[in-house]
Amino acid sequence: MSNEELQLPPRQLFVGGAWRDGSTGMRRDVVDPATGAILTTVVEADATDVDVAVRNAREAFDHGPWQRMPARDRARILHRAADLIRERADELVALESRDVGKPVSLCRAVDVETAAQQYEYCAALAQGIDGATRSTPIPSLAYTTRVPVGVVAAITPFNFPLILSSTKIAAALAAGNVVVHKPADDTPLSALFMAELLKDAGVPDGVLNVVTGSGQIVGDALLRHSGVDKIAFTGSTAIGRHAASVAGEHLKPVTMELGGNAAHLVFDDADLDVAIGAVIKAFVFNSGQFCMAGPRLLVARALHDTVLGILEQAVPTVPIGDPRDPATVIGPMAGERQLKKVEEYVELARKEGGRIICGGERLDLDGGYYYRPTVIADLPTDSRVIAEEVFGPVLTVQPFDDEDEAVALANSTPYGLAAGLQTRDVTRAHRVAARLDAGIVWVNDWAMLDPAIPFGGVKDSGFGREYGPEALEAYTKIKSVVVSLPEPQ
Ligand code: NAP
Repeated sequence: MSNEELQLPPRQLFVGGAWRDGSTGMRRDVVDPATGAILTTVVEADATDVDVAVRNAREAFDHGPWQRMPARDRARILHRAADLIRERADELVALESRDVGKPVSLCRAVDVETAAQQYEYCAALAQGIDGATRSTPIPSLAYTTRVPVGVVAAITPFNFPLILSSTKIAAALAAGNVVVHKPADDTPLSALFMAELLKDAGVPDGVLNVVTGSGQIVGDALLRHSGVDKIAFTGSTAIGRHAASVAGEHLKPVTMELGGNAAHLVFDDADLDVAIGAVIKAFVFNSGQFCMAGPRLLVARALHDTVLGILEQAVPTVPIGDPRDPATVIGPMAGERQLKKVEEYVELARKEGGRIICGGERLDLDGGYYYRPTVIADLPTDSRVIAEEVFGPVLTVQPFDDEDEAVALANSTPYGLAAGLQTRDVTRAHRVAARLDAGIVWVNDWAMLDPAIPFGGVKDSGFGREYGPEALEAYTKIKSVVVSLPEPQ
């Protein structure tokens, strides 16, 4: 699909079920990372726009039909949203690929399909939001109900815009909430597309509002707005810390899906074909811009040199290039900022004595922000390149001598989002999985996800869970009702 076919006129804000201009008149370019060309512009909103959006959301929550609607009717609308996502998949694939630089084949199979599945899964959950009865010694009927929290501020990062918006919005809406969504500055287009799609699916006006603009202005105004009841944040640990502290000041509940730096352990009994496939997928997928990427490879010492040799041969053969080519596996980084950050880390690795096994440089192609997938060995254990989240197609490799050392190295960073291990020993698989500090552990593959599997971090990777029935807990409050039933006198 060409830019003309994609129809990318300048975009507005979506508030109260209608498109509107921002109050400042300022706009921001949206850039195609595969070429550096400007795709369109979006509104650079400010606190006044946030206020209008929150007021619309508040009105929709307090006086609109959404939270009072039978759950079955809400579910029907969310199912319709899933259907529309699939019907309009070609447009969504082209849009998300152009905005983020994602290869079209992955965009279709992963991003668009996952978004549809999120709406389907949450539609089913909507119909099972139940309370409980409790027996007490008081002569009474005591029961609980689960009620929506109200106006949810959903703030999302640049790397999986469609999936991350859908994850929050589908769960929040399923539980009867209303949403003001701020997508990332760099990749806002699918959020605006989805606003209209959800309206077409039957979501009432004001229930979903999308406000584009910078995190420091729009994001911050959302965190502080007294009309916001809950903050659902996904992004870096640094900004998450700020968001959590502002939420703390205002006593707002938060869920925090933050950074990751997962370890991938390859034991000496691993099936090497399976392991290498998973290792490569875990660090090149989405050009390594993947919170649950596996950029830290820990290999049993006996296999260390063999694995490096295989990676040296295999990694450069992974197709990198134009994301519109269906054969492409690695597209560009999502922006120049991300590309420069990766370059700085690889430079640091060289200074720290790291040996570049492959990659280690940009790929000059069409003016896009490409970086070759890079494998680095021989870094010191305390290297910053190992400890910090690089967020690019960079894999560091470290040997270990035994299980204790493997687990200690795996748990040695402040992050705890994901981890994985490769072994044919089922006892070891469960034993090591239990010892890894991570919200999710994969055995003999990587990034196996489903809307039914709870996802979220420990330590500096955040708290709260998305996906699974657990996701709805964050979007509901429990209310207890106790009815006095005295004995007749
Ligand atoms: P980021 O810089 O933290 O931004 C995330 C969101 O916060 C963006 O919408 C950003 O707006 C906004 N923001 C920035 N400053 C803010 C402020 N002062 N107040 C409120 N909001 C503010 O993250 P990113 O670089 O876009 O994304 C990469 C990070 O996200 C990585 O650390 C990655 O691991 C993490 N991530 C985590 C998960 C997970 O599920 N745990 C999933 C995906 C990504 P702007 O775009 O305008 O700056």
